[in-house]
Amino acid sequence: MNFDAIFDAQLQALRDEGNYRVFAELERRCGAFPAARSYIADGPDEVTVWCSNDYLGMGQHPQVIAAMKAAIDDCGAGAGGTRNISGTNHHHLLLEAEIADLHGKEAALLFTSGYVSNWAALSTLGARLPGAVILSDAMNHASMIEGIRHSRARKVIWRHNDPEDLDRRLSELPPEAPKIVAFESVYSMDGDICPMAEIVEVAEAHGAMTYLDEVHAVGLYGPRGGGISEREGLARRITLIEGTLGKAYGVVGGYISGSAALCDFVRSFASGFIFTTALPPAVAAAARVSIAHLKRSGLERARQRAAVRRLRAGLDAHGIPHLDNDSHIVPVMIKDPVKCRMLADILMRDWGIYVQPINYPTVPKGTERLRFTPSPLHGPAEIDRLVEALNALWRQCALSRAVA
Ligand code: PMP
Repeated sequence: MNFDAIFDAQLQALRDEGNYRVFAELERRCGAFPAARSYIADGPDEVTVWCSNDYLGMGQHPQVIAAMKAAIDDCGAGAGGTRNISGTNHHHLLLEAEIADLHGKEAALLFTSGYVSNWAALSTLGARLPGAVILSDAMNHASMIEGIRHSRARKVIWRHNDPEDLDRRLSELPPEAPKIVAFESVYSMDGDICPMAEIVEVAEAHGAMTYLDEVHAVGLYGPRGGGISEREGLARRITLIEGTLGKAYGVVGGYISGSAALCDFVRSFASGFIFTTALPPAVAAAARVSIAHLKRSGLERARQRAAVRRLRAGLDAHGIPHLDNDSHIVPVMIKDPVKCRMLADILMRDWGIYVQPINYPTVPKGTERLRFTPSPLHGPAEIDRLVEALNALWRQCALSRAVA
């Protein structure tokens, strides 16, 4: 059988739809972000990155880098094993304590990514709680969906950000069944924020556990960066908070935080925790410094917010349609995969502006977009230049403008 021919046919179908992904080959230079060196053929040598999830530039922070270097000198490059077999370093334990404190919980448990933490925790909880039903928001991330699927527990999907629909669906379930309400605080592609107080209220009324993904909120919201649950004073009432170390904290890794019994349960049964090499100690050391810094400093958050406000105001002034939300994510809607890619290509080639087109299956077909994530390191001149570029493109391609 010619397997490559089968692969090629499916890849060609992706190309035909405009959904084939091409890497932008870049090198972030220490201290230079959002500027990055580009290796793109026929492209500019240097680009401004507008779509990074290193939301606050903490991946470049001198204290974070110094902590990583010092831990490498102390502990070497890798963990040397799984957490249970020689791979647990004191940096892992310090980081877990830092995370538990961040969320005001008894404990935390590290994973190699946010994706793995969702997959491992939900698959374990769904499989190990007899008769469990998982109620999943319709817009939940792929990592939660995969975890739920793998658990083989019954799944009920509720309408996105709709506590009334959640309430209705919970009412239809047997009162004795263990129920897990899984949802996110900030949704990454639309940047909308969930009505957390109402969701928690409904879940509590039905005796359900709450499983909250704060991946796009930790470090960014709340006085100490504890996420929307901290900002709204709800962290105590959420059963499990899941987060990443790879976005606002600028490093890599994922975690869950909750009661000591919950974390011990997942630690003891989750294959995605047990059977994989632990994060390098240097990663844990850097992540801890990043969390500790953002607990104390509101400067990065304030500067990021100012950058977001300036970009939105610029877009509004020119009628460039973007989704209105209360977060740091600025999606400019194109609604066509081919056009979306074309605009991104022109921005890169003519302006040295890098934004990755967001197409299906990351977002539903017909909602393709350019997703901008202004950071504290994007200065006013860079923001104004982005607006100027988009305005020129809108004119050049005769794209429709929003009525101001
Ligand atoms: N949850 C959500 C909502 C996400 O958007 C992502 C990543 N984009 C993840 C989890 C996975 O996090 P990580 O990148 O740390 O694997």
